[in-house]
Amino acid sequence: MSKEFVVEGWGRDEFLNAAVKYNPNVQTALIGRAYDFAENAHKGQKRLCRRDFFMHCKEVAYMLMKLRLDTATICAGLLHDVIEDTKTRPDELKRIFGEEVFSLVNGVTKTARISLESGDEERAENIRKVLLATIKDIRVILIKLADRLHNMRTLKYQPPENQAAVSQETLDIFVPISYKLGMYRIKSELEDLCLRYLKPEVYQSLKQRISKKRDERDREVRELMGKVKRLLEEKGINATITGRAKNFYSIYKKMTKKKIPFEQVNDLYAIRIITESQDDCYRILGIIHSIWTPISSRFDDYIASPKQNMYQSLHTEVVINGKPVEVQARTWKMHYIAEEGIAAHWRYKDAERDKKFDRKIAWLKQILEWRMTANAKDFLENLKIDLFKDEIYAITPKGDTIPLPEKSTPVDFAYAVHTDIGNHCKSAKVNHIIVPLDQELNSGDIVEIITAKNATPSRNWLKFVRTNHAKSKIRGALKIAVGEAQPAVDSKDEEQLIGLIDFPKVSLLKLAGCCSPQYEDSITGYRMKDGKIAVHKVLCENIKKLDPNRKIYLGWKKQSDDATIKLRAEVIDRSGLFQDILSVLTRNGLRIEAINTKSIRDKLYLLLEIKPPSVPEILDETVSSIRKVSNVVDVRVE
Ligand code: MN
Repeated sequence: MSKEFVVEGWGRDEFLNAAVKYNPNVQTALIGRAYDFAENAHKGQKRLCRRDFFMHCKEVAYMLMKLRLDTATICAGLLHDVIEDTKTRPDELKRIFGEEVFSLVNGVTKTARISLESGDEERAENIRKVLLATIKDIRVILIKLADRLHNMRTLKYQPPENQAAVSQETLDIFVPISYKLGMYRIKSELEDLCLRYLKPEVYQSLKQRISKKRDERDREVRELMGKVKRLLEEKGINATITGRAKNFYSIYKKMTKKKIPFEQVNDLYAIRIITESQDDCYRILGIIHSIWTPISSRFDDYIASPKQNMYQSLHTEVVINGKPVEVQARTWKMHYIAEEGIAAHWRYKDAERDKKFDRKIAWLKQILEWRMTANAKDFLENLKIDLFKDEIYAITPKGDTIPLPEKSTPVDFAYAVHTDIGNHCKSAKVNHIIVPLDQELNSGDIVEIITAKNATPSRNWLKFVRTNHAKSKIRGALKIAVGEAQPAVDSKDEEQLIGLIDFPKVSLLKLAGCCSPQYEDSITGYRMKDGKIAVHKVLCENIKKLDPNRKIYLGWKKQSDDATIKLRAEVIDRSGLFQDILSVLTRNGLRIEAINTKSIRDKLYLLLEIKPPSVPEILDETVSSIRKVSNVVDVRVE
């Protein structure tokens, strides 16, 4: 669990040495001045834990130091409370430390003094101020998050009524912000601390149960990691392997969302493999899949399509000793970005601090623009809603931003721009490349809709559009009455799910409540005494204990949309090869469903499963482009 005071024992010299250790480019002279200034300004002030107030400033600056941020940010971390809590005048701070440090400190300084009696208005106004300053300079929110994290770590010294209010605000506002900025390490720690104060019983019981299970699981995970390590070494791949424990809050969330008890959360741990190149990530995945059986539909390629918050990794789930284990593969750069998010991006210097970087905080600008006119209290309420909605921002060729729900497609985009564009949409380009109309859009994608006078909406579009707006416009154009049954693909509704199960007597089927199977999970049936058949997940703990003679094999109906095409490429391994092949697929808008490698005698094969392209010619083009990649001996569609 989080330590309250990490650098308490450090003197000035140790503090400055550490700053250089994390970032050799910092100016210790200025940081030293900020150190002395803050220590002096807060002299005599105590925190509720009875320690010197300055300890808090040091801890906040240390967190920023660990994110390897620059001189101004570390200085501002040390000085972040001097305007608010000491007699220091703003102009004095500006004169001594300059405009940059001053505006960072000013950004996190509250407009109104917050006390227990402060109304929501003041709280809301303070948050709005921080977010506005963040748009001008992202470092403001990094300082604010470090400050909040340290206040959460020391929350036990606050009166109980404060604890709940601060935790709730953290969970509503700062957790989603850190998620949206991709700062997973801070987000998970904040979440666990919130859980500890908002649901103390849940927190304590999880803590106990996890420590009980830990020894046994630790041993298993260690053995597994050793095995993976040896395997990769044999193939000449250099990698660091770690076992990652899920944070308490995400276990709690899983239990409540899936309505399952702790005992049924089996993925408490994941194995993470960190390596040098992107190429190695795919190669590792191929090796893992050739040894353990992947659980179908659990492969996520966040390298080819990063999450909105910049997260990149390959995720897969395989069955090892009868248990599902999540395996992640990523490069070191991806690892830092996954843990530190926007802070790591900010570090990758000017070249990347361009338009692309701006787009990463476009969502924040949008939220603030929409809510600028609202009064402070409405602002806060709406901010909570906006933060939880996963929205993406696609861009028109003219540069206008179109906000859309996550997983929206070019058709949603077309209707969002104008009904006529939607109704005459023929095809679409994303980032200048023709893509299938059902391709999921990502934030920052530039989307161009190609229209034709004689083009009309297709009934098929209703299967993949995300927005209600597009749905109702398509229905209107097709003259489909509302309420008429539409083919459901990803509906979680029980009846619709059962309809997708491949079984002659659907009326006998019933979804088991214990493991709530979802579309594409591996499932098995169990004949019950009343003749009905309960549908369980293959990995359900309950079904394992039941009479195996009464089990029935069950699978999902093969939907024509889900058919995949298998490509088999014979290759001679070289560095960069996988990446080159995969970029051909990405360029052609093809999504990879599964990836595998196989060596037969001295030949190496790369097996790829892809979704069929909407335009058949794309497949031929792709195959001939792959053939041209050097070291590819042959490619065949199986
Ligand atoms: Mn503070």
